[in-house]
Amino acid sequence: MAEIGRSIVRMDVEELLTLLNKALADEWLAYYQYWIGAKVVKGPMKDAVIAELELHATEELTHAQLLVGRIIQLGGTPVLSPNEWTKITNCGYDAPEDPFVSVVLDQNIKGEQCAIRVYNKLLALTREADPITYNIILQILTDEVEHEEDLVALKEDFDLMIERRK
Ligand code: FE
Ligand code: FE
Ligand code: MG
Repeated sequence: MAEIGRSIVRMDVEELLTLLNKALADEWLAYYQYWIGAKVVKGPMKDAVIAELELHATEELTHAQLLVGRIIQLGGTPVLSPNEWTKITNCGYDAPEDPFVSVVLDQNIKGEQCAIRVYNKLLALTREADPITYNIILQILTDEVEHEEDLVALKEDFDLMIERRK
């Protein structure tokens, strides 16, 4: 373990590790929700939606990568079993049981809004206490804000198209 690296963290490291593991579970669930959503989604604008869902899936995986790297650096044990994901998640998992584009978009917008709230809290918590984690969380939060905007823009296009057809 990087002892000096760990010792400069000015907060309870175990508490921080718990929060990072919860976020790691969120990222895996978000990854799968996007990945499986891209496979099953149906309806108008499907191609544009699939492209965005697939891109977001890969970006959620990158977030998992960043979090696991920091957890290990701090001497923690990353969540080792998928069984744990739904137990420790902040944002949960919405199965795309209704594959219609607007429903899938709404589910993922809700997920991003939850992620933004979670990372914004983590950002405030680490700002003074742990600049290394802060920097990682800031990168992730920047992506989540972009994700929300991308999905909302697609949803607006979808709603406009429906409106015009009336
Ligand atoms: Fe993410
Ligand atoms: Fe995201
Ligand atoms: Mg995007």
